[in-house]
Amino acid sequence: ASSPFLFRSQGRNCCNGSSRVVRRFGTSSAAEDIITPSVQVSYTQLLIDGNFVDAASDINRAVKAARKAFDEGPWPKMTAYERSRIMLRFADLVEKHSEELAALETWDNGKTYQQSKTAEIPMLARLFRYYAGWVDKIHGLTVPADGNYHVQTLHEPIGVAGQIIPWNFPLLMFAWKVGPALACGNTIVLKTAEQTPLTAFYVGKLFLEAGLPPGVLNIVSGFGPTAGASLASHMDVDKLAFTGSTDTGKVVLGLAANSNLKPVTLELGGKSPFIVFEDADINKAVELAHFALFFNQGQCCCAGSRTYVHEKVYDEFVEKAKARALKRVVGDPFKKGIEQGPQIDSKQFEKVMRYIRSGVESNATLECGGDQIGNKGYFIQPTVFSNVKDDMLIAQDEIFGPVQSILKFRDVDEVIRRANETRYGLAAGVFTKSLDTANRVSRALKAGTVWVNCFDVFDAAIPFGGYKMSGNGREKGIYSLNNYLQVKAVVTPLNNPAW
Ligand code: ADP
Repeated sequence: ASSPFLFRSQGRNCCNGSSRVVRRFGTSSAAEDIITPSVQVSYTQLLIDGNFVDAASDINRAVKAARKAFDEGPWPKMTAYERSRIMLRFADLVEKHSEELAALETWDNGKTYQQSKTAEIPMLARLFRYYAGWVDKIHGLTVPADGNYHVQTLHEPIGVAGQIIPWNFPLLMFAWKVGPALACGNTIVLKTAEQTPLTAFYVGKLFLEAGLPPGVLNIVSGFGPTAGASLASHMDVDKLAFTGSTDTGKVVLGLAANSNLKPVTLELGGKSPFIVFEDADINKAVELAHFALFFNQGQCCCAGSRTYVHEKVYDEFVEKAKARALKRVVGDPFKKGIEQGPQIDSKQFEKVMRYIRSGVESNATLECGGDQIGNKGYFIQPTVFSNVKDDMLIAQDEIFGPVQSILKFRDVDEVIRRANETRYGLAAGVFTKSLDTANRVSRALKAGTVWVNCFDVFDAAIPFGGYKMSGNGREKGIYSLNNYLQVKAVVTPLNNPAW
């Protein structure tokens, strides 16, 4: 075939058509650059009660299997040590199959193979080892209550956890949900995003191989308004965890409330400020601001999508941010050296393109990018807008694409106020050499995570979640355990005289 993908990553307003980077793929001439030429899709059926089965309307069947595995065991009744060992064995299997898994994740999602292999698969294994470490350390307290009573609290699993995950980090979202739920002894029905069903089934198989009993982890794919809604409103699901858009978050919260009032944790959208003060290391700030926005094709809920830069360093910053975006290499995610693959699907692609048009129409300055790359697939030029104002749509809405918006500010109070003037509150970045500025701003920002002179540092032990309409509850770390535990107080009179 002739090259269907001839990419030219160049700025629209700035390079005058000079073809700086041209990438080809899909041709035999590029074969030596391909890291993984073939992908094996082995598991495409739903995993229910320990078996792969054809899809039907399966939420009831999956919930039934999870219910039985919870009520009759063996999972919640196994010793903590045994449960922990299964999770550790699973992490080993993830590492053993890391290449197939990384290839499948890239095939399914479009993110670079390099990222899948070096970041996401290791983080998946790490997260399960982290939660395996908690399994035998979850326990209640004895309580010094008034009166002649022995009072203790039991920390029990909630029961059947329903989990709905998005498409931008299929395996990591799987890990953030399944890790703590299993550690606490729950059983699970997890629904993957309709765009990315493949890797969850693969790791589901690895869990069976690791010794997880049938029915403990059931995995279904399906669309949101049908399969997702059925899970959220199911009377026999005891807890719901959701990651996705704020609009859908509101829907599932309503479904949970209107069915059995199951508790809900929500991890939703964001419009995170990335604030660069005049004393920051500008080159480092430019690189991290670029990373904060463009990582994962810009499809991150915590993307640093409002880059606030102090007026004294603004011009220098914009020039360097544009130069960096122009160097970004877009193309076949399986090829070495590629930094950016395609957007997930046509819906998201069209949405991002609409926001780019909106930026141009509202008179932000398009520094570079702004167009589709080629005419096949959903590749978008790394795009940078400067002179962005707070009231523009591109500064208010979550774009979820490779579009950086740079805004100018004058002083600390002003930037704190403007950074907080959003319905979201997921994350923020602060770049400064002053400890006082860093401390003051991190305390003033209404966001679940503040990264100081760094960004997107994720670790199994660091909690993540949102203020305001970015959600409620925290995932990862010790905090996520609370989402999956019931606390029972047991009060027993002491028959001997008070001491
Ligand atoms: P996006 O618009 O980026 O696809 P969503 O929030 O709609 O984000 O999707 C995240 C997850 O929520 C997916 O697994 C999707 O299937 C699911 N979902 C979408 N709509 C609903 C709904 N009405 N009820 C339950 N789940 C839903």
